[in-house]
Amino acid sequence: MKTVDDLDVQGKKVLVRTDLNVPLKDGVITDDGRIRASLPTIRKLVDKGARVVVVAHLGRPKGEPKPEFSLAPVAVRLGELLGRDVVFATDTVGESAKAAVASLEDGQVALLENLRFAAAETSKDDAERGAFADELAALADVYVGDGFGAVHRKHASVYDVPKRLPHAAGGLIATEVDVLKKLTEDVARPYAVVLGGSKVSDKLGVIDNLLETADRILIGGGMLFTFLKAQGHEVGKSLLEEDQIPTVLEYLERAKAKGVEFVLPVDVVAATAFSADAEHDVVPADAIPADRLGLDIGPESGKLFASRLADAKTVFWNGPMGVFEMEPYSHGTRAVAQGLLDSDAFTVVGGGDSAAAVRTLGFDENAFSHISTGGGASLEYLEGKTLPGLEALED
Ligand code: ADP
Ligand code: MG
Repeated sequence: MKTVDDLDVQGKKVLVRTDLNVPLKDGVITDDGRIRASLPTIRKLVDKGARVVVVAHLGRPKGEPKPEFSLAPVAVRLGELLGRDVVFATDTVGESAKAAVASLEDGQVALLENLRFAAAETSKDDAERGAFADELAALADVYVGDGFGAVHRKHASVYDVPKRLPHAAGGLIATEVDVLKKLTEDVARPYAVVLGGSKVSDKLGVIDNLLETADRILIGGGMLFTFLKAQGHEVGKSLLEEDQIPTVLEYLERAKAKGVEFVLPVDVVAATAFSADAEHDVVPADAIPADRLGLDIGPESGKLFASRLADAKTVFWNGPMGVFEMEPYSHGTRAVAQGLLDSDAFTVVGGGDSAAAVRTLGFDENAFSHISTGGGASLEYLEGKTLPGLEALED
């Protein structure tokens, strides 16, 4: 895979696919980690005298312009962080984008509007996607792929544009791939994996492959209830994916046969409603009341998890242990984050919300070996899948 260092971009228009999919609340960016993660590659291109055309998506506008998914606030923040003007185009391949690109001088930066305002960006139809990719490619001379959070998507800006232009990987993708290799080849052991979050069925798949590589798998977050239910416990109104129970049972069997340790919570914070103000108590994991829902792992589980991380040499963590956005349910996530830091392991945090949790809970992100910007992408890599955005960057 070529990197930006291998490219001569002086005076050239360089289309950079970044991941600027930041959380927004009422038009205000609540965590700018992904913007900051995109800076080194953009800066490098600026320093090399490129005319930098940044493209990205935000949220799921479902193929039409929706003001609440505009990248306009991101353009402002990007400009502040870069310390230079960022020209913002109000469309992606239309008049505004063409004018913005034409206005650039060497070393200047433009950001085009949300790629997903065009249905063709995410289309399953190769021809439709290809036509959009033709228009995007026509804006530039060179393509740089740096949106690690989107490399598992076969989207026009990720997969089809690099097939149409000379291309290279940005520093972010290059780093992410190096880290993922450390989690899959010659792994330092014990290797512990902590899984949580709310996308249960998305995340169960990775366990299939982890049973071949990991020594310990710790389960928290929304998926823990499917495990508890599979073991015959009631889970009240907690998040549950009944249809995944056979899969979970099969994983538990295989883990036993292979000597992989599954670590499940022993206690849970159970609330009367999905709210910070709801009545909530710590209950044993096998005694969740029928009218309650589990919103965090309990304090004993936090200690247990930390103890299973203490002597690990490699830790991969994806998914918060609870609804960390609400203070009463943030303690499990805090305990796991601290557990990673207290170990001597090579520690990798993956997933947009997990990375945001680390930051909003006040941890120093530099204290972790690596914070990945791509949750889904890193999971699919660990699942052993081919990622379209990486495949397209190979020569
Ligand atoms: P990531 O972005 O790190 O991959 P996910 O998107 O899968 O993680 O999940 C993050 C979300 O999971 C958080 O918003 C958190 O509130 C939620 N979550 C964690 N535990 C639970 C739970 N027990 N019930 C419901 N939601 C949960
Ligand atoms: Mg998420």
